[in-house]
Amino acid sequence: MDFEAARASLIEHLRREIRDERVLGVMERIPRERFVPSESRYQAYEDRPLPIGEGQTISQPFIVALMTQEMELVAGQRVLELGTGSGYQVAVLAELAGHVVSVERLPKLAHRARQILDELGYTNIEIHLAEKAMGWPAAAPYEAIMVTAGAPKIPQELLDQLAMGGRLVIPVGSRYEQELVKVTKRQDRDLVEKLGACRFVPLIGDGAWEEE
Ligand code: SAH
Repeated sequence: MDFEAARASLIEHLRREIRDERVLGVMERIPRERFVPSESRYQAYEDRPLPIGEGQTISQPFIVALMTQEMELVAGQRVLELGTGSGYQVAVLAELAGHVVSVERLPKLAHRARQILDELGYTNIEIHLAEKAMGWPAAAPYEAIMVTAGAPKIPQELLDQLAMGGRLVIPVGSRYEQELVKVTKRQDRDLVEKLGACRFVPLIGDGAWEEE
């Protein structure tokens, strides 16, 4: 299979709705096929989520592009991602930011992601196993935070880890469907914008969902 050609045509498709060319440029370079299980590699450039084992999924490319665009990253910034999963989204963030901290609660996924990201040569990514506290307060504040699992509400703990002027992009809603929300932290009242419907696996932990 010609992954390069498939990747280029996916990017053309995304360009209809994604306006940030930097995000599209980065996604045109990263081999998504490396982040999916070998049996679904032929589907790596379809615009859909794919199972990655442990009941989890790698997000749909359109959602990756949209969420990354809304992070409004500037070179050198410090970023936090919750839900490492396959590691694909971290790679996209690492190409645009200075340093990315990513947290995952399932050790198997965290280890596999670390391995692929090392093979691809990333040196500005830290992966941690989730602890009791949501996010990774030890390295806060972050200029942008992305949550790639659905939350019942916007976690105050994550707003506390965000720098003033920083952006939090997070799916909020029920266990099965959510709305993508962007919060910009401000001195007075935070700015809350809605970016559309989405469907993520649940964010598990204190202040979020219980494991089923
Ligand atoms: N960003 C991923 C998609 C992740 S799917 C990618 O690009 O492939 C969501 C992930 O969030 C799952 O792997 C799940 O185990 C993880 N997760 C759920 N609750 C979490 C929490 N409280 N902290 C960290 N990770 C969590």
